[in-house]
Amino acid sequence: MTLAHQIAILAGDYIGPEIMASAEKVLAHTAKKFDFAYETTAYPFGGEAIDKCGDPLPQSTIDGAKQADAILLSAIGGPKWDAAPKRPEAGLLAIRQALGLYANIRPTKISESQVDDSPIKPEIVRGTDFVIARELTSGAYFGKPRELAEDHAIDTMYYSKDEVERIMVTGFDMAMQRKQHVTIVDKSNVLATSKFWRKTAERVSKRYPKVTVDYRYIDATTMAIMTQPTAFDVIITANLFGDILSDEAAQITGSIGTIPSMSAGAAGPNLYEPIHGSAPDIAGKGIADPIAMVKSVAMMMQYSFNQPDIAEAIEQACDQVIAAGITTPDLGGSATTDEVTDAIIARI
Ligand code: ATP
Ligand code: MG
Repeated sequence: MTLAHQIAILAGDYIGPEIMASAEKVLAHTAKKFDFAYETTAYPFGGEAIDKCGDPLPQSTIDGAKQADAILLSAIGGPKWDAAPKRPEAGLLAIRQALGLYANIRPTKISESQVDDSPIKPEIVRGTDFVIARELTSGAYFGKPRELAEDHAIDTMYYSKDEVERIMVTGFDMAMQRKQHVTIVDKSNVLATSKFWRKTAERVSKRYPKVTVDYRYIDATTMAIMTQPTAFDVIITANLFGDILSDEAAQITGSIGTIPSMSAGAAGPNLYEPIHGSAPDIAGKGIADPIAMVKSVAMMMQYSFNQPDIAEAIEQACDQVIAAGITTPDLGGSATTDEVTDAIIARI
């Protein structure tokens, strides 16, 4: 008897359930084709959970997610809960904390079919393939004290040795699976946390003699992403810088509807989700781009289940569908979510 891999499904709000249905269809098809045994269990999360249980992250969802081998999340929140006492987005911070997800990994990869849709010149963007490993649970967004007064305000950028070291290890490990190059991005000419970040990188890098390391400042990096995106393999950076760089990098591909992500911790399941939100403006119209969600399934296959062949098959099918012009309106096409999904399945 093969043990079925357990996947927790958090279908979310607005376009969330629409694109999750696509992902589940692709998952079912690939699993059959590659003989991959799995079971899914759905749990309420975000706005849906507020409606059902009064809490964006009910305890039953935490328990279910912790027991799973991997978690698929679509997107949550939206105007329906603008006036709610608890916001759906609070669930996102809470689930990262509950599962100890301290690393967020976002790929920026340009397939040949996307080269002409990029806002960057083809000769510059061609061949771009890097990931950003962003620290997710500390730094400027969590440091204390935090204060907002009439005449002043305080935020604190704090990092402990352990917090920096573990994200470094995540990034260097990824580089070993990729092109063995790491870029440490910081502001070490000004910030103490960045000097600390750099010192830690130097120490950790000694354990990875095969990996070459670059050190860049955040300001210079924002330019380099636009002018020499092929110079990067794995970027390792702090929470605040990573937040900014990830959104900038997303622009290179032309649509946020196509980019997946992974959040990882030390133990327990990783969480996979598109980088985009719940897109309330297009919900219910059947035109949401399912590719970011489907590529999240590919990432899950790669990093949680060590199935690079399945991951590759899904990725390539998505790229072929884009190349064939079978795209939703965000990529300039007129196909529906279902049509794109079926076209992906036909090519796997
Ligand atoms: P969040 O704050 O939750 O990160 P947001 O409000 O910044 O999200 P999104 O919900 O991602 O933004 O939507 C931004 C724009 O991108 C919207 O116009 C939305 O319709 C579009 N969009 C987002 N995801 C998709 C998708 N999968 N397919 C098509 N369009 C999308
Ligand atoms: Mg939003």
